[in-house]
Amino acid sequence: MTKRNYIMVWDECLSIIKDNIPEDGYKTWFAPIKAISLVGSTLTLQVPSHYVIEHIERHYCDLLRKVFTRVIGNDFHITYNVRIVGDAYMRTPEKGRETPLNRPVTLSAGGQKYNGSAYAVPGIQKVRINSHLNPNYDFENFVVGECNRLGCSAGMSIAENPGKSAFNPLFIYGGPGLGKTNLAQAIGIATKDRYPDKTVVYVNASTFIAQYMDTVGVNNKLTDFLRSYQSVDLLIIDDVHEFAEKKGSQNALFNIFNYLHQSQKQLILTSDKPPVELAGLDQRLLSRFKWGLSVELKMPDYETKLAILKAKCFREGIDIPKGILEYIAENVKGNIRELEGAIITLIAQATFVKKEITMELARELIEKIVQTPQEEITVSKIQQVVSDYFKISPEQISSKSRKREVVQARQIAMYLSRTMTSTSLSYIGSQIGGRDHATVLHSFNTVNDLIDTDRTFKRYITDLKRILSE
Ligand code: ADP
Ligand code: MG
Repeated sequence: MTKRNYIMVWDECLSIIKDNIPEDGYKTWFAPIKAISLVGSTLTLQVPSHYVIEHIERHYCDLLRKVFTRVIGNDFHITYNVRIVGDAYMRTPEKGRETPLNRPVTLSAGGQKYNGSAYAVPGIQKVRINSHLNPNYDFENFVVGECNRLGCSAGMSIAENPGKSAFNPLFIYGGPGLGKTNLAQAIGIATKDRYPDKTVVYVNASTFIAQYMDTVGVNNKLTDFLRSYQSVDLLIIDDVHEFAEKKGSQNALFNIFNYLHQSQKQLILTSDKPPVELAGLDQRLLSRFKWGLSVELKMPDYETKLAILKAKCFREGIDIPKGILEYIAENVKGNIRELEGAIITLIAQATFVKKEITMELARELIEKIVQTPQEEITVSKIQQVVSDYFKISPEQISSKSRKREVVQARQIAMYLSRTMTSTSLSYIGSQIGGRDHATVLHSFNTVNDLIDTDRTFKRYITDLKRILSE
């Protein structure tokens, strides 16, 4: 954005504000405010003091919300810079994004009511949080079939009445690429369409965890973090299996979950496994995940695949003969992401390479996609993956080092080689630092025992196996 843009944008806001409030109020509170930047939909305003922020947010909250929505758009975001003595600027607060005034009113970290009158700015707080909803992921584009029918209808009834249905939380689980993110987002979008004033927030578990980590050791930051999540009406947390072994983040989630659930706010969680199979998560969290409805997204059947392909072509404005779509639906056996990959490749060939979409072209492409042989899992591949995972070089793994973490990585590499390749113990030993077969067997047994007794260890193995099978 050029300099002129933010000035123009703010001028436009000012002129609407001016038309809507008494002149005195305008002169005192708004005239001294200047815009200093506009990045995306984030407008930064320079204000004379914190008091001014407090005042305008408290008294003109509704008006401001309407003005910003009209001039900047639904996803507007306002940050303030307060001018302080000495002509220096202080980011307010130093985090740059938040203002103390943007804290919600009656919310608290621990379940007690927070009586922060100075921060009573519910309106601004409501629109301030970025929804992170992707408009392409709405129900209109979501094809319903046997594989996702239950999730879809539960989702639609949530959007009718978020927080008030029996489906709280809605726990959506299933393998990768089966539409968990898409469905969760569609529910968010439908809710927002029906209740524009409700705050809907989508966050991926890893983002949530990173945000939580960011609060550690910084005064009040955790409270701010908890409060902002506690102030939403519909919270979607994607991929909650990522919380495994992340104790602090789990506590924060527990806290937010309780608060929202008690306040009859809606929660939607997604995961690659049902709650009972989630390893590394606290029992009290898992039991809460089971309070509402758990639905599985399954592999799509032929009819659903065909419908998804047709929908995709329709959206792209491309007409592909039915026989070709049927061929793709029949031959792509993987998840929906792979199905989409296939049709996108075909469409790309037609558009960019200007090839006509014929059955022959479809066959050629699909053969490549379907028959991509999985990269073979070898002892050296395993060593490489283990080395990347633990950040220990392959040389160290093969070395004579007795350091605990090196020994552990070495034993895991041997264990995985034994379980995931068909090579002999002595071959594995020869590849991993010239050990004999007895050493490999010993490592195998050690790891096997640890998997049963040590959850972290079990997690390592599950992660590594997943990475290797990808
Ligand atoms: P997951 O979160 O389960 O890994 P995604 O939600 O990311 O899967 O879905 C993978 C891709 O498949 C996305 O591009 C998504 O839009 C598409 N997709 C999934 N389910 C459907 C559906 N029912 N209809 C249309 N597209 C779908
Ligand atoms: Mg996903």
